[in-house]
Amino acid sequence: MTHNFETRAIHDGQAFDPTTGAVVPPIYQTSTFVQDGIGGFRGGYEYGRSANPTRDSLQTVLASLEGGSAAFSFASGLAAEDALLRAVLTPGSRVIMGNDVYGGTHRLVSRVWGPWGVALETVDMSDLDAVRAAARPGETTVLWVETPSNPLMKISDIAALAEIGHAAGALVVVDNTFASPYVQQPIALGADVVVHSTTKYLGGHSDTLGGALVVNDDALAEKVGFVQFGVGAVSAPMEAWLTVRGIKTLGVRIDRHSENAQAIAEAVVSHPAVEDVYYPGLPSHPGHELAARQMRRFGGMLSVAVRGGGAAARLFAESTEVFQLAESLGGVESLIGYPSEMTHASVRGTELEVPDTIVRLSVGIESIDDLLADVVQALDRVHGA
Ligand SMILES: *Cc1c(COP(=O)(O)O)cnc(C)c1O
Repeated sequence: MTHNFETRAIHDGQAFDPTTGAVVPPIYQTSTFVQDGIGGFRGGYEYGRSANPTRDSLQTVLASLEGGSAAFSFASGLAAEDALLRAVLTPGSRVIMGNDVYGGTHRLVSRVWGPWGVALETVDMSDLDAVRAAARPGETTVLWVETPSNPLMKISDIAALAEIGHAAGALVVVDNTFASPYVQQPIALGADVVVHSTTKYLGGHSDTLGGALVVNDDALAEKVGFVQFGVGAVSAPMEAWLTVRGIKTLGVRIDRHSENAQAIAEAVVSHPAVEDVYYPGLPSHPGHELAARQMRRFGGMLSVAVRGGGAAARLFAESTEVFQLAESLGGVESLIGYPSEMTHASVRGTELEVPDTIVRLSVGIESIDDLLADVVQALDRVHGA
């Protein structure tokens, strides 16, 4: 019997320990495994870089939740992305990605892979004709999609983009970090690979770094598995275990993140210090209808354009108390960030540059009354300044 998402998040890959009956499987904090005679592996385990039961537990639950045939866990989101690119790119390959992808992804392809003969083109992924024109058949190796995007929360049509990518013979990759598999499952919509920074919503507690790839094709799984083993940027047992622990509560957390973000978006949209609010749960958001179709919830991320220029935006970002000023997102605690000088500082001067009026909120699961009061007092300060 196949179980529903919330049940699989708690049980898949997480069977109790057969030796002791411990309900929670132990952290296999070991680098190597005893052999019963040469080549006599217990459960197939040989050496920690090739496989570890705690990492397997995480990989099993991730494959289940994303609806893929196999998952691979890495030390960070970027390590996962790099492993995928190593598995599929060759000199002369061409990558097309959104002109608002995660800055680190852009930097990885342009500045790490560029010198190895890989070409990068960026397009507006919400403009399907532009993507069709850019994704030239036979020339495009990878179509890289990120939705919702960061920080303007643009929504792209995964199913339509998968069709366009496949018509051009490209591998279709979706970075599902902002949404999480509770919200959308790209493989079911036609994508070939799902990428995660598990550092964010999957881990969910801002206490561990990690990344993952989920695939649904045996030949690709073999290539990615070879790179994971051959290059070795695997997740450590403790990090994998913390991520599994986080995943158990993913559904309830995302429900609360989404409710809180919706309430904040609706409350601040009419504040005199606010020029615009970017949240797909607002009917005024250009991606609202697509998001309502494609996503189960609208998620916990939103951005605000502050009236009064960069100085006003900085003042807002530095005036909250419950929302802590920090990079990253997706944890239970609320964070506030100033993208143009924090997360997006590395893309200044490129077409990925973010206006200096934008402030990004990762809305946590604290009391909504406290969060609202905090955001409003900070905006009042900006308005009064
Ligand atoms: C954080 C992030 C990454 C990179 O992940 P790390 O774990 O920081 O290496 C990739 N994509 C998105 C959308 C992210 O938010």
